[in-house]
Amino acid sequence: MLDAKNYVNHIFEEVKKRNAGQPEFLHAVEELLDSLEPVLEEHPEYIEENILGRITEPERVIEFRVPWTDDEGRVHVNRGYRVQFNSTIGPYKGGLRFHPSVNQSIVKFLAFEQIFKNSLTGQAIGGGKGGSDFDPKGKSDREIMRFCQSYMTELQAYIGPDRDVPAGDIGVGAREIGYLYGQYKKLNQFEPGVLTGKPVSMGGSLGRTEATGYGTVYFAEHMLQDNGQSLAGKRAVVSGSGNVAIYAMEKLIEKGAMVIACSDSSGFVVDTNGIDLDLVKEIKLTKRGRIKEYTQSRPDAKYYEGNIWSGMEETYDYAFPCATQGEINLQAAQHMLEKGVTCLAEGANMPCDADAVQLFIEKGLLYGPGKAANAGGVAVSSLEMQQNSQRTSWTFEDVDTQLQHIMKDIYQKAKETAKKYGKEGNLLQGANIAGFVRVADAMIRQGVI
Ligand code: GLU
Repeated sequence: MLDAKNYVNHIFEEVKKRNAGQPEFLHAVEELLDSLEPVLEEHPEYIEENILGRITEPERVIEFRVPWTDDEGRVHVNRGYRVQFNSTIGPYKGGLRFHPSVNQSIVKFLAFEQIFKNSLTGQAIGGGKGGSDFDPKGKSDREIMRFCQSYMTELQAYIGPDRDVPAGDIGVGAREIGYLYGQYKKLNQFEPGVLTGKPVSMGGSLGRTEATGYGTVYFAEHMLQDNGQSLAGKRAVVSGSGNVAIYAMEKLIEKGAMVIACSDSSGFVVDTNGIDLDLVKEIKLTKRGRIKEYTQSRPDAKYYEGNIWSGMEETYDYAFPCATQGEINLQAAQHMLEKGVTCLAEGANMPCDADAVQLFIEKGLLYGPGKAANAGGVAVSSLEMQQNSQRTSWTFEDVDTQLQHIMKDIYQKAKETAKKYGKEGNLLQGANIAGFVRVADAMIRQGVI
């Protein structure tokens, strides 16, 4: 039998061979494997049972054609995906992303991350993810509806409340989930537990919309408190201006921090008086506009094109990347440290490149990895599934209280696991090991399937 180090190397070589040309997926796998050596040394049965060989191969990858007609009657074709990565501890669970960058590598990386994120929540949910290279930008409501209907016409054959439960991600919010659910119901039956992130009027959970952003801030608060710091009176920068970013900003402001900048894919806006969140909500949620429009109502604020993390000239204390993968490279990370950043919590999935993370950890920055810090969204999705099964709905306060408990528990697990394996303070390693062990143990008990 190979020792832990050689086993990890052997697996990564195999994964690279089998997944050539999938850099995002390989990055996600490498980041997990890099954490696991100490736990493999302690548990040779994981090597004996070839858990890493099995856990890095998706149980199923579904790809399909999504034809749809635009308002002018032209016919378009997109590609749809659903990666059902691991169902050891529950039905596949994870969002759908509609964005032109979506490809198999991206969906596989997201589904892989989701396995360990979902495990960390303590809920009974496996890992999955899906989406399409469809670009919702500039599309009419009717076009979005027709696309969602076509997408679901194919996807419905593979999902179900105890089988696979999709939700939202970039480009998929309550509007899209509404259309997707309508089509599912037409082709099947009334079954709200088949999707989460539904509008509240049709079985959605109160607090789901806010959960990812709020949860990320709750997680950051635990990191800070443990290190004798707090959010009150501090300057924060949040990238993005979508669902995750908006509710991270809302919670930060509520906790007394001042958010001085946010962004979208074109550029970022800096408002040293503190970002006016109602204005951002109006631009992004009501008008579906661009963040650039912020300066029309706030002439004191400044708009810059380009990347917020490498472009910020102001100093600030805490960073909340809530946009997308790969937004912080090594050079941006160096710039952030120069600007005074001491704590970073990832609201997005894999926003930091591997060398950026390494630098943050080396420099002792408080780093909250996405699979722990942004797990609040999927955790409340699981609470939505519970409410749907019980045919009931809980109050916002009830859901938010449960979310706070879950985020605290995830933080403790990541912290204590890191300590147990001699990596005190390394929440990435702690989260990876804790998320992995729960799934690996259950896989051994279920046999080679
Ligand atoms: N897309 C979200 C995530 O990255 C939520 C998934 C869900 O609610 O199922 O975790």
